[in-house]
Amino acid sequence: MLLYWLRNRRRRKLLERPFPARWTDYLTANMGHYAALDERERAALHQLVQVFVAEKHWEGCGGLELTDEMRVTIAGQACLLILGHDHDLYRRVETILVYPSTVVPTRPTLALGAHDYSPMPVLGEAHLQGPVILAWDAALRGGLNPRDGRNLVYHEFAHKLDMLDGSADGAPALASHEQYRRWAEVCAREYDALQRAVARGRRTFLRDYGATNEAEFFAVATEHFFEQPRAMRRKHAALYDLLRDFYRQDPATRDLRRRATRR
Ligand SMILES: [Zn+2]
Repeated sequence: MLLYWLRNRRRRKLLERPFPARWTDYLTANMGHYAALDERERAALHQLVQVFVAEKHWEGCGGLELTDEMRVTIAGQACLLILGHDHDLYRRVETILVYPSTVVPTRPTLALGAHDYSPMPVLGEAHLQGPVILAWDAALRGGLNPRDGRNLVYHEFAHKLDMLDGSADGAPALASHEQYRRWAEVCAREYDALQRAVARGRRTFLRDYGATNEAEFFAVATEHFFEQPRAMRRKHAALYDLLRDFYRQDPATRDLRRRATRR
């Protein structure tokens, strides 16, 4: 309780400071989805980023000198996922390790997915009781390309959301039994369909890596949800609705609104 109170007091003080103009520049330059946010969403994201940058333990690895630009670019993308929630969803994220480029896993048994046992270098990892590990070049590339369906930071932080309830099973912590029931039903159907399509060598909208296991399915679906929301809503409506309800955001509508205001 005391810790809770201290933390909240620290956060209040932190948020009394204005969001640095330079940080806005970093988000504008490096995070494609930042432009799609309205004023209210930007203000909320700024607060999340301020707390995220200050409270997490950041470490540059492999000779990387971490800069504010790197921290803010990663934090902005990570916090977009929790824009409809709050910091609580990242309470288990303590440490973020950033390598300059592709990472060779050091504790492979704890990693998720096919890259688990692979000796190949990977771009990122999320550990159940440990750090999120990212390659800076890949994190930046994902931020700069907001529509290609791939985003390393969304992917790894989706894993952390999935792990919040203690297991990486492709289902994050949900609010009700009804939500769990719907989640299991929709995801099982979509995951099976993806596995079958991939096994037959068919082209799929969802990246085939999502057929690896349920946890990767959720992480990959999250990437498409934020990067190609209108196509996903068209092709995988039930899955889109499920993620919209979980993330409490509607990127397809946001996308349309942005296009309308640009005309
Ligand atoms: Zn993964």
